[in-house]
Amino acid sequence: MAVLTVVLATRNEGKVAEFKAGLADLGITILSLRDFPTCPEVEEDGETFSANALKKARAAFACTGLPSLADDSGLEVDALGGAPGVLSHRFAGPEEDDAANNAKLLALLSGRPEEARTARFRAVLALVWGPGKERMVEGTCEGRILEKPRGRGGFGYDPLFYVPTLGRTLAELNVAEKNSVSHRGAAIRNLRPVLAELIAKGELAEHAHRGGE
Ligand code: IMP
Repeated sequence: MAVLTVVLATRNEGKVAEFKAGLADLGITILSLRDFPTCPEVEEDGETFSANALKKARAAFACTGLPSLADDSGLEVDALGGAPGVLSHRFAGPEEDDAANNAKLLALLSGRPEEARTARFRAVLALVWGPGKERMVEGTCEGRILEKPRGRGGFGYDPLFYVPTLGRTLAELNVAEKNSVSHRGAAIRNLRPVLAELIAKGELAEHAHRGGE
């Protein structure tokens, strides 16, 4: 039986699937904010992924009383000076719209040759399990932006993000394959020893079976 519940501070099903796959063997029960519909949306107004991740994790902890894990992530395109960066989810407008974001990205890179389309995904994870009890890890994934989408998996910019070492876009990978190369997968691998250490020290155990709605 699971001894620990962690809440993912997101309602993004793509992110939830990747976290569940990456942490499946740790015996942790993983919930998300979809399980806590009354928890408020957090305004992601930080200037860095770290600031936004911490803000989301603190808010989820305040709302659920459970150890909370947030991911703030995005795409940094070199030819665009690192944009869309922290604004990745609302690149094309105030509402998160993957199709519009991808269309805007293609338009901005129109006519650029392959070597000028380099980009990376970055993910920062924040784990919060009490006041001042906070840890952060991160991961990146290098690639380039294609001229046309390829693949139907994943979410966000995945169909445009080509990983040269695999010869495929992130949208052409299943969840396990994506985790093996992605920014989020790398961050999750960096998180695992942190979780193991905290569990071993009993830091997270006091929260076991608390909370829920
Ligand atoms: P967040 O919810 O503020 O972290 O926004 C993340 C945004 O960055 C998403 O809406 C996507 O546009 C983009 N993004 C982050 N991670 C990924 C990924 O793994 N694949 C594709 N797009 C991603």
